[in-house]
Amino acid sequence: MNKLKLMVNTQILARGITDKKVINALLKIKRELFVRDSFKNQAYDDNPLPIGSDQTISQPYIVALMTELLALNSNDKVLEIGTGSGYQTAILAEIADKVFSVEKISELAVSAQQRLKELGYTNVEVKEGNGYNGWAEKGPFDAIIVTAAAPYLPEALIRQLKEGGRLVIPIGDYSQELMLYIWRSKKLEGKSIIPVRFVPLV
Ligand code: SAH
Repeated sequence: MNKLKLMVNTQILARGITDKKVINALLKIKRELFVRDSFKNQAYDDNPLPIGSDQTISQPYIVALMTELLALNSNDKVLEIGTGSGYQTAILAEIADKVFSVEKISELAVSAQQRLKELGYTNVEVKEGNGYNGWAEKGPFDAIIVTAAAPYLPEALIRQLKEGGRLVIPIGDYSQELMLYIWRSKKLEGKSIIPVRFVPLV
């Protein structure tokens, strides 16, 4: 079995991810294309990896879990905060109609955009910016994913969610909880999923 299939079997399916769209996207995208040459041999390992600028590409299981929690449909418009390597962005772009991604660090925004373009993702837009503000001009969104830990839930992101919209975000500083929020009838329903460890949203 190749490393990618083995990753999906042992890290994703074995841990209870069932959304076919998520599983197919993971099977399709070579994670090795999103890490530096020196980490290519570890690309399918069960952990985050450095991507430069003190940032990391998330553990595959966490990418799968967060994507599954977003309950995406093929006509959804998604906002991602923290483009990083662009791996999570590519997963979203496989499933949803349009993906808008905001990255604070210029070099990462530029390299992820370039990489996603080379891979043929025409339904992705990346911009350099502060994710605390979301991306109002492109909203409102069916789903929002934040891939860095915030000390509190940024107000702007709630305002950019559609009715029925889902928001997945790690909340906390040293100890963090992965939270799922749903915006329903002008109210935010929140649910704690699992403890996680992300780099901070700055
Ligand atoms: N989803 C990424 C993981 C990136 S790690 C991947 O699959 O590779 C989190 C990212 O969030 C980092 O790239 C970091 O630079 C970015 N980030 C941190 N604070 C941010 C902010 N306020 N606005 C936008 N991006 C931010």
